[in-house]
Amino acid sequence: MENGEDSGRAPCADLHAHSTCSDGVLSPTALVRRAAEQGVDLLAITDHDTTGGIAEAREAAVAAGLRLVPGVEISVSWQGQVLHVLGLGVDPASRPLCEGLEALARVRVERAERLARKLEQAGIAGSLAGARAQAGGGVPGRNHFARFLVERGHARDLRRAFKRYLARGASCYVPGQWAELDEALGWIAAAGGRSVLAHPARYRLTGSALKRLLATFRDAGGEGMEVISGPQTADVTATLAKHAREFGLLASRGSDFHEPGAGPELGRLPPLPAGCTPVWREWPS
Ligand code: AMP
Ligand code: MN
Ligand code: MN
Ligand code: MN
Repeated sequence: MENGEDSGRAPCADLHAHSTCSDGVLSPTALVRRAAEQGVDLLAITDHDTTGGIAEAREAAVAAGLRLVPGVEISVSWQGQVLHVLGLGVDPASRPLCEGLEALARVRVERAERLARKLEQAGIAGSLAGARAQAGGGVPGRNHFARFLVERGHARDLRRAFKRYLARGASCYVPGQWAELDEALGWIAAAGGRSVLAHPARYRLTGSALKRLLATFRDAGGEGMEVISGPQTADVTATLAKHAREFGLLASRGSDFHEPGAGPELGRLPPLPAGCTPVWREWPS
């Protein structure tokens, strides 16, 4: 009863992963197959602002023998910064969710156009077409621009492309008008999902600002937070686990997988620390 995953064997859960429907490099089918190969038995597909990969992932999950959690990672503007809120277990046919994500897709299209204009002014032509090609027909996000910049030799790797051109504070950064926190939580609730604050340690908040965010998130109806997110130090995990308990938030675990060989692998994550209540605890197995 120690580790919060006491009902039988704890599932190998990875509740944060991207496909080609947003900025991942594997198709939903390939993502599900890879997760199964890595021993994941509970996988959430959580593309940025789209549920477009869920249907395909569901089919693949049946064949691969793992449980698929239909999810989405929603971009939120909050106090001058961008937060990511996961909706786990959402019904992709939910009307409020669909309408909300359609609005965000329009924000993404406009942001991509503005970003391309800024890159053009910085002497880099053709980035909109280049990023669109990287996105394989979907709406290009910053990762697609980053891949284009690397391919054209404007940056040595993705990290440098972000640092120089795309990250907040970089030369070509374009802020987006994303969803309000209340809106995003409302769409997730309407779609029957659980709302989970993604990678809380990545917002570069001070300790007290992070606590204010978690209190605001919970008071607005947020239900969980990622306690394990990709590669993070044991110190960060311990702090996040403590916060989850203190704020009464469910705990989630996700790799934020985007591509093989770069960044965290599917399912390769430590277990949730003692005392955390897993977000998947009440889900039917
Ligand atoms: P977008 O939603 O299009 O603004 O892109 C956000 C995505 O860009 C994140 O989910 C990451 O995949 C990626 N990203 C953001 N910041 C960085 C960074 N500094 N280095 C590498 N990738 C990043
Ligand atoms: Mn991403
Ligand atoms: Mn994110
Ligand atoms: Mn993500």
